[in-house]
Amino acid sequence: MSQPTTPATGPRWGLAIDTERCIGCHACSVACKVENTVYLGMFRTKVYYHDFHGPDAAGRTAPRRAFLPTLCMQCEDAPCLKACPTESIRRDADGVVRIDVDSCDRSRDCIAACPYGAIHIDPVAQVADKCDLCSHRLEAGMQPACVEACPADVFAFGDLDDPGSPIRRFQARHGKELAVLKPEEGTRPAVQYRGIGTVVPRAVERKLPKGRNHDPFTYEIDTWSELRADYGTVVGKAKGGA
Ligand code: SF4
Ligand code: SF4
Repeated sequence: MSQPTTPATGPRWGLAIDTERCIGCHACSVACKVENTVYLGMFRTKVYYHDFHGPDAAGRTAPRRAFLPTLCMQCEDAPCLKACPTESIRRDADGVVRIDVDSCDRSRDCIAACPYGAIHIDPVAQVADKCDLCSHRLEAGMQPACVEACPADVFAFGDLDDPGSPIRRFQARHGKELAVLKPEEGTRPAVQYRGIGTVVPRAVERKLPKGRNHDPFTYEIDTWSELRADYGTVVGKAKGGA
């Protein structure tokens, strides 16, 4: 497996995720799995569900569900890179953190260091693997698979040096609303989010595993029926009922 080469000059890729638009359909993570052959139970991209009670459109307290698409944050101060004993991880001039699979020794130090659950060991190739913004597609002038597959235009992607790119237009429109995940980790994530702390409660961040890859058991599908059963009580209380 060869690594994509990155010119010293060229695009600086940026990505922002608008949680206000996400409908939790998983098209992004499915497209990622197909595009990058990500095996069962492992994830480059993962959409988290979070059930909670909060105000609905009419201002009543009601059961709600929030969705948080996640992937490698392409951190500017990446702990995975610093932890790798074989210096197999680098952050290229285009802003993408990449793994040199030829020198990876499968020590898992990168997995242990990542606060976002973004790395796993590919069980077939037996090397560390994570989102690299579909670098093979970027080289071919295409967008990452998740960006293309999303039916709700959640991802704003493009060249940060191009004022007309989707990411720059998104930043111009929503700059003050943008936030990063787990800022307290000091990793300076490059991926930005809209709606963190509003549409998506900050509590969801705690679901992203630190030191291991995402797991398949975080969809909270089971708790939805629980919340539904509770709905009448909650709305009744909001209306001043018992
Ligand atoms: S999210 Fe994890 S894998 Fe990606 S750059 Fe940051 S520390 Fe490394
Ligand atoms: S494809 Fe888009 S709408 Fe569907 S879960 Fe992913 S980000 Fe959300």
